[in-house]
Amino acid sequence: MRYLSADIIFPINSKPIKNGIIKVTESGEIIRVFSSKEKIPNAEVEFFEGALCPGFINTHCHLELSHLKNQISEKTHIDGFIKELQSKREATTDTIHAAIEKADQEMIKNGIVAVGDISNGNSTFSTKAKSKIYYHTFLELFGFNPSQAPEVYNRAKALKNELNQLKLNSSIVPHSPYSVSDELFSLIRENHAYNDPICIHNQENKDENTFYQNREGKLAEMLQSFGISLDHWKAEYPSSLQGYLRKLPTDSRVLFVHNTFTSAEDLEIAKGQFKSPYWCFCPNANQYIEDTLPNIPSFAEKEAKCTIGTDSLASNYALSVLDELKVIASAFQQIDSSVLLQWATLNGAEFLGLDQQLGSLEKGKVPGINWLRDLENGQIGSETSIEKII
Ligand SMILES: [Zn+2]
Repeated sequence: MRYLSADIIFPINSKPIKNGIIKVTESGEIIRVFSSKEKIPNAEVEFFEGALCPGFINTHCHLELSHLKNQISEKTHIDGFIKELQSKREATTDTIHAAIEKADQEMIKNGIVAVGDISNGNSTFSTKAKSKIYYHTFLELFGFNPSQAPEVYNRAKALKNELNQLKLNSSIVPHSPYSVSDELFSLIRENHAYNDPICIHNQENKDENTFYQNREGKLAEMLQSFGISLDHWKAEYPSSLQGYLRKLPTDSRVLFVHNTFTSAEDLEIAKGQFKSPYWCFCPNANQYIEDTLPNIPSFAEKEAKCTIGTDSLASNYALSVLDELKVIASAFQQIDSSVLLQWATLNGAEFLGLDQQLGSLEKGKVPGINWLRDLENGQIGSETSIEKII
């Protein structure tokens, strides 16, 4: 048995506790969290300067793009990013695999215990099968040509079977509102198992809204440059989200990723339409690709269920949930670190359906324990660093 104490304990399911003490088994199962006033007789307490919190949940990553670290130009917007990505994606199997293994280890070191990871192919599956991290794979579909929808969907089903054989959970999901035909959206919706989480890249770029408003803008141009016909595309909506929300399964847990150009009205409408909407922020990737940040405080004010993602090493310098929190903490100082840590832990665990085991320091869970050093007045600051304790 271990007794772990710190200046602040963030149990997440309850308020932060100054000088609290966590009683935990050697294997990491939480027995109890004591407040500082209670006495623990004959116990040797390990004290950590700073804070202790549960392991982090990274709800959005693309492990398969890890070999593209430092390869893609910054601030070229999503159309430029996708074009460059397509042209540089190819590499030898060994290069790709070594980068995936390294990225998995990097996430473990950074206190991440579960990941929602996007896959187009099977290059990450063997790493996921043996990793200490829990992975839920989102098999991402692209396909704007309606006649190819069954073929695209069946390819994903074959990958899902591979994952089933490795006992890895997965869902088949649309890449984004502008890269999937209505026919493909229907196949995804009709075959989706109610209890599986689903995700979509949402309003990452201004032109995504324009595309849904009047079929114009850089995304429309990009699709046409790929030889894709937009003749069948209806564009008559106030925004992308308001145009495509009925194409998704509304009863399942849905994660909207990025939300850089999501308005307060979009948020309200989505909250009315979906039973369990979650909102994932990947601020480093937003700065890398679009050179901007979402209006994150407007989500916090409305108590929307927010989560944190690192996106991939193609658009980030590291796979660290703490690094993402530092960007938000520095840009939006009105959001308290206890709120940010809930986004980084329990909300992500809930979205992935893991909140019985992970996300908070509650009796019976094995959530992992992270040590946050060098807080600034009890808040996450630019100098804050992380060490995984359990
Ligand atoms: Zn992404």
